[in-house]
Amino acid sequence: APWFSGVEVEMAPPDPILGITEAFKADGSADKLNLGVGAYRTEELAPYVLEVVKKAEAKMLEKGENKEYLPIDGLAAFKKATVELLLGADSPAVKEGRVATIQSLSGTGSLRVAGQFLSRFCSGRTLYISDPTWGNHKAIFTDAGVPWKTYRYFDPETVGLDEEGMMADLKAAPEGSVVLLHGCAHNPTGVDPTKEQWKQICDLCHERQLLPFFDVAYQGFATGSLEEDAFAPRLFVEEGHDVIVCQSYSKNLGLYAERIGALNIVASDKDSAARILSQLKKIARPMYSNPPVHGARIVTEVIGNKDMFDEWKGEMEMMSGRIMTVRGELYDHLTRMAPEKDWSFVKRQIGMFSYTGMTPDQVANMTGKHHIYMTKDGRISLAGLSSSKAEYLAAAMVDSVR
Ligand code: PMP
Repeated sequence: APWFSGVEVEMAPPDPILGITEAFKADGSADKLNLGVGAYRTEELAPYVLEVVKKAEAKMLEKGENKEYLPIDGLAAFKKATVELLLGADSPAVKEGRVATIQSLSGTGSLRVAGQFLSRFCSGRTLYISDPTWGNHKAIFTDAGVPWKTYRYFDPETVGLDEEGMMADLKAAPEGSVVLLHGCAHNPTGVDPTKEQWKQICDLCHERQLLPFFDVAYQGFATGSLEEDAFAPRLFVEEGHDVIVCQSYSKNLGLYAERIGALNIVASDKDSAARILSQLKKIARPMYSNPPVHGARIVTEVIGNKDMFDEWKGEMEMMSGRIMTVRGELYDHLTRMAPEKDWSFVKRQIGMFSYTGMTPDQVANMTGKHHIYMTKDGRISLAGLSSSKAEYLAAAMVDSVR
């Protein structure tokens, strides 16, 4: 008998986010619109390679670099560039050498390595994850063997932060727990704490001895400013917390498929950071051995060259600006078509997404009747919307919620 007939392998369901792209590709309608995955598109709805990335790649080709293995913890120049981009070049934590940084496989891979570290060294600690959160978080930490619970985050009444619920749940968490926070542009809600609220969360982490764990997947994409978007992790580090931060260059440099990102663990002294880094390497080595070099070189070139760095900032402002523009257009169409409803959340939400509050049935109508693909939780990626399609989307939304 065939060997695999002797083992039971059930069909797994399609991925809640990437499975949508598969369904979208199979749809023959000319009206179809993929607002599922968070990937930036041009007004013509084409994928976009940043000009500055093309320049960096041309330089790399000229240099004729080899394809030798990187060290387990990645390209040294990349590690320096990425931690400085996150915390600032004159961050005392960086200068004092108390940040353990490992280049990893973009945001997801960095989160997975961090999860493995937590399950190996911090067993018994629970990870608190916002409700709702990015569809992959729970699976990542479940697979890494990290026990997790959720904390309240979103208030559907106000379509804003459930500040009271969040603070109450974090207060009730056992001392020494770990809290996963989205550094900026919370996915899927687009609702971020204000600076004042971040300060309160920071104080609460001190009070309850909680370890802040930031997922920074959108630095520069929320407000268009790299500095502004790093406010929260910088605040917590300045306030003396030990902190974990995962970074991704998928969105802000458009390097989705290059799988480039980093895990940074900020410790209280150089010796702890060195021991932590040694263990991160021990985790990565049997998992994937060492990370890919191409994306690391691109990031290093761009950050290390003043002209290219400025050009990158310009392109980021352009991308985040285009998303803000289509937000405004979508809001205008919605308000014109269904003035009895309050659509202001569309404009208030930050980052790539709008969390519409649509039910699974309404989402099914969006897809089945209007060929608009989006996640079942009612999230639409505005990065995949163009000005010319905003009216079509608005009409479908109004039809689905009425
Ligand atoms: N965290 C969050 C909150 C995200 O939205 C994403 C991308 N969708 C990621 C992490 C990681 O993405 P990647 O692995 O492509 O860097």
